[in-house]
Order: sequence, then C-alpha cells, then structure tokens
Amino acid sequence: MIIEYDIRKVDTMNRTTIPRALCRIINIKDQDRFNISMDNNYINIEKYNDHHKNSQFNRKIDKLNRIVIPKSFLTYFNINPGDSVKIFHDVPNKIIKINKYIYGCIICNSIENITEIENLREKNETFICEKCMNAIKKQGGF
Ligand SMILES: [Zn+2]
Repeated sequence: MIIEYDIRKVDTMNRTTIPRALCRIINIKDQDRFNISMDNNYINIEKYNDHHKNSQFNRKIDKLNRIVIPKSFLTYFNINPGDSVKIFHDVPNKIIKINKYIYGCIICNSIENITEIENLREKNETFICEKCMNAIKKQGGF
C-alpha cells in the first residue's frame, strides 16, 4: 500500500525536506544514513542497511531533514529548482517515494495552459487554466 503523504518544494540546491513524522515511521533519525535510489516511477528513500553497501547513493539526512536529490534523478524526472514533488509512503516496505508533482487547475484539474494565481490564505500554490479563467472573466470575475 502506497499512500500520499505531502507535497514539498525542491530548492535551488536540489534539496527537499522529508516530513519529520515520516522519517520517524521509517526509523531515520537526525543525521542517520539513508539510501536513495530510483525506478521508473519514483525516487526511493529508505534507511541504510547492509543491502546498500555497494550503493552509490547512501547519504546522511541533515538536521533540517533535508536530502539532496542526485542530479541524474532530477533530470530523469524533469524536476527543476522550485518545482514541487509529491511524497508517498510505501507502508509495507518502509520506503519514502518521491516524484514530480504538477499542480492542476483548481477548478477542472487540467494541467494544460495553467497559470499561478495569487493565494494568500493557502500555503500551497494555486493554479487556474485558461479555459476556466476565461469562463470566470465572462461572468464578471472572481
Ligand atoms: Zn480549469
């Protein structure tokens, strides 16, 4: 079972923050080693163990629970600084899974021709597509 957990941003140094509670669940504590790998669909993070001895990508989590995503992974998933990623929890396997998250239109959920609209109340970005924006404009605005 893989459950959606959170949405986070990737900063200019290719880092993203893993929710502390989720780290606790998979038993990664401050400055513990974790292994980062990828498959076709996800970047996978799990607590370092003996199986990862020959892995190229075992790292330490920093004090702010940030991990640096290797450049080749970012390229594969077309993730750029400032993009958002969705964080999942693979419950039985104790793996944190990450992939690119694209915000859809707040009304119709389309990802075509979307622009960001200012949203002071919510922490997450809000987008609207051209079609819905035009429909709203016809009705006299928000
Ligand atoms: Zn729309």
